[in-house]
Amino acid sequence: MAGASLRSVEAPGGRFDPRRLRREFPIFERNPGLVFLDSGASAQKPCSVIDGIAEFYRTDYANVHRGVYKLSGRSTDRFEAAREKTRAFLNAADEREIVFVRGATEAINLVAQSWGPAHMRAGDEIVISDVEHHSNIVPWQMLRDRLGLKLVVAPTDDTGEFDLAAFEALLSPRTRLVAVTHISNVTGATLPVARIVELAHAVGAKVLVDGCQAVPRMPVDVRALGCDFYVFSGHKAYGPTGTGVLYGRYDLLESMPPWQGGGGMILNVEIDHTEFQEPPHRFEAGTPDIAGVVGLGLALDFIEGIGRDAIRDHEEALTGYAVDRVSRIPGVKMVPGGQRQLSVFSFNIDGVHPHDVGTVLDQHGVAVRVGHHCAQPLMEKLGLAGTVRASLGVYNDEADIDRLAEAIGACREMFQR
Ligand SMILES: *Cc1c(COP(=O)(O)O)cnc(C)c1O
Repeated sequence: MAGASLRSVEAPGGRFDPRRLRREFPIFERNPGLVFLDSGASAQKPCSVIDGIAEFYRTDYANVHRGVYKLSGRSTDRFEAAREKTRAFLNAADEREIVFVRGATEAINLVAQSWGPAHMRAGDEIVISDVEHHSNIVPWQMLRDRLGLKLVVAPTDDTGEFDLAAFEALLSPRTRLVAVTHISNVTGATLPVARIVELAHAVGAKVLVDGCQAVPRMPVDVRALGCDFYVFSGHKAYGPTGTGVLYGRYDLLESMPPWQGGGGMILNVEIDHTEFQEPPHRFEAGTPDIAGVVGLGLALDFIEGIGRDAIRDHEEALTGYAVDRVSRIPGVKMVPGGQRQLSVFSFNIDGVHPHDVGTVLDQHGVAVRVGHHCAQPLMEKLGLAGTVRASLGVYNDEADIDRLAEAIGACREMFQR
């Protein structure tokens, strides 16, 4: 169903057409005139996901991995089919490398709490970048305090580009883990992940990549990147909330103890001893979000139906248009996003608080994010209380950016008086 409806999304000649694509998203029909520029916080959902989840509940739903009856078998097949889809989507070597979790935040906490104590000791170092989301900072701070580690921050330069030379200089044999985002959720900068992995592996460190902003908009191949862990949230990739993925190289997952105990992750339980399942089930204690995971599979079908190259090309071009258009407005200061800025851009208007900008833009039907974007250390570095952030999805086009620019103009006039 997803595949068929998606091919119709292409305009004659096969060109990517956001306006036809927008019709797949009921939210735009129910909210006429909405200019949604907050997909970086959470993407809207296409019919194939919304209806697919309802259809799953109507047709194939039962608990998974437990029942001997046919319905439970079908439900389990749908759930496990989503795992195989996710494996293919990330080009992982084996579907046992795909662990379903609640979101990127949970995936990072899982690695911190399970892999961390098993592989790090006092004095070891974790390197993160200075554009990380709180989800890729706080779990490492907690682990630092628990184990006596050192948290090292690799800088981006004045143009918003990750500074590879500075990063390399911070690596040492004490570095056990590098945890970086693939695309910044504040500046839109794409980090040179493959090179980061090479440099980190050269000193024997493992690499975790936070792919929240990358997975919905560009091809991601974990084997080509060479990373050890890769995480993302379903809800930013047109899928349901409460779903996420931890990819981990199988030998690493195998070396990790369980982090939550319960049903579904055990082979045998005696009152004073338990044998645990192999990965990925070892890390999936309790009843998972079965319908959510099925919906996540449908969301990945949706993305694949359009094609990630096509999405990236469209969003790259639209990002260029938007940054150019908005930065020309007098009194607007852009936050630099480096050479390869994709789908996310932040700015401020001279003399106007970001919250006031957000409120005025909303009065013009333009939904953007304002504030610190869960990246307070980055705000501190930029010397800003917050920013206005716009982020793109497959349904955005140049007309949306023009509406944004007009609303910014109106906002400036309002606050100049
Ligand atoms: C949204 C986001 C997160 C956190 O995702 P949750 O879905 O809230 O778990 C982490 N990193 C980046 C870069 C994000 O954009």
